Amino acid sequence: MECTVNKIWSTLDSSSPRTISFLSEKDPWRYLLTVMLSASTTDRQAEKAAASLFALYPDPPSVASAPIPMIEELIRPAGLSRSKAPRLKAVSSYIAMHGLPGSEEELMSLPGIGEKTAACYLDHVLGLPAVIADTHFVRVARRLGFTDTVDRNKAAKEIRERFPSSVWSRMSMVLNLHGRTVCRPSPHCTECPVRGLCPSSEACSVGS
Ligand code: SF4
Repeated sequence: MECTVNKIWSTLDSSSPRTISFLSEKDPWRYLLTVMLSASTTDRQAEKAAASLFALYPDPPSVASAPIPMIEELIRPAGLSRSKAPRLKAVSSYIAMHGLPGSEEELMSLPGIGEKTAACYLDHVLGLPAVIADTHFVRVARRLGFTDTVDRNKAAKEIRERFPSSVWSRMSMVLNLHGRTVCRPSPHCTECPVRGLCPSSEACSVGS
């Protein structure tokens, strides 16, 4: 079983682009806020909302002192603006006072930073190994037999226990991309490089 899992992973890894990235933002504070904005929406909508916000409030002190209704209005394209706006303001206030978070513990102590957002920051900003378990990742990981839970945090924990930390970040990107392009909610198994190994290929191909 473990042998098949490793074979699936190596096949998927080698057939995926060497570099995969979903958000183009490079600045750490802007990246963190864009990831927070991406909750329950698409990366495109999050980037659109972030661009509006940063055009008017370009740094942590300016967002920290911005009126919440104004932030809400600017980030409306990302949805859930009433809950996201105060969190963006609180995180920006913290960063304006204390600087960028330097650890997972510090990140998780901030409002609105869940495990997925923290994992994105650890990987992208701090260069640390992290499992980024979003909807696409968990769907693909379950179909491949890497995990059997639908709970994102539990899935991330299982992957961390099952695979070496050296592959966590790469696996996050590869499974995410695969879930967006091939192993979609309605999967395109005939185009999949691991269709001969995947435990779900037959069930998916008959629509179950
Ligand atoms: S064979 Fe089908 S279900 Fe399995 S990973 Fe590929 S697309 Fe997804």
